[in-house]
Amino acid sequence: KKIIIAIDGYSACGKSSTAKRVAAALNYAYVDTGAMYRSVTLYFIEHYIDLTNPKSVSKALDEISITFHHNKSSNQNETFLNGLNVEKKIRKMEISQKVSEVAAIKAVRAAMVKQQQKMGKSKGIVMDGRDIGSVVFPDAELKIFMNADFDVRAERRQKEFFDKDQLVDLDEVKENLRSRDKIDTTRAESPLVRPADAVDVDTTHMFLEEQVDHIVQLATG
Ligand code: C5P
Repeated sequence: KKIIIAIDGYSACGKSSTAKRVAAALNYAYVDTGAMYRSVTLYFIEHYIDLTNPKSVSKALDEISITFHHNKSSNQNETFLNGLNVEKKIRKMEISQKVSEVAAIKAVRAAMVKQQQKMGKSKGIVMDGRDIGSVVFPDAELKIFMNADFDVRAERRQKEFFDKDQLVDLDEVKENLRSRDKIDTTRAESPLVRPADAVDVDTTHMFLEEQVDHIVQLATG
């Protein structure tokens, strides 16, 4: 029986890398909801949208279409904003610095959640984010709450930037993670919370393969 797997947690504790591989192992669809908030942020920056003006925000949201397409050569899902591949752009530090502010806007969340719920209509999906088990799919059959020690998260994220040809100072990475954690857990609109029925996975001392196997086990159990 195909199910919905919701993976939530703080920034950079391995949600996306794990979720992607769990989906591949189970032959499920994978949706990176962070990529959706990042794409909205990119659009808002490129179009100089005033975040304090609800009319501009809702007009911009109407103009945004986000889709995912599988790239055969890299075997990865890539994010498209209004038909353009933005996968590289949305991973930049500039976006990381602004995304939590954009994701705290009520209208932005409403639009994203609606789209995410549609994607979950056909079961057999792994979705990762901050509010998947709590808001998007409160009835998900399997909910995972991921965490890892702060320094480990920062080092992993710095390496990810490095692998994408971006040299970012470790202190800058730490500052960004701290600030996003703070905004994500304290915002008024669906803050990051651990769903009561979630299974905790602490990835501090785990290898990626172990994380994947563990969750696949729980899903097929
Ligand atoms: O997962 P990722 O780090 O790419 O997410 C970027 C940001 O998008 C998060 O820091 C958070 O502010 C926001 N986000 C969210 N809800 C989600 C996924 C991401 O608010 N479901």
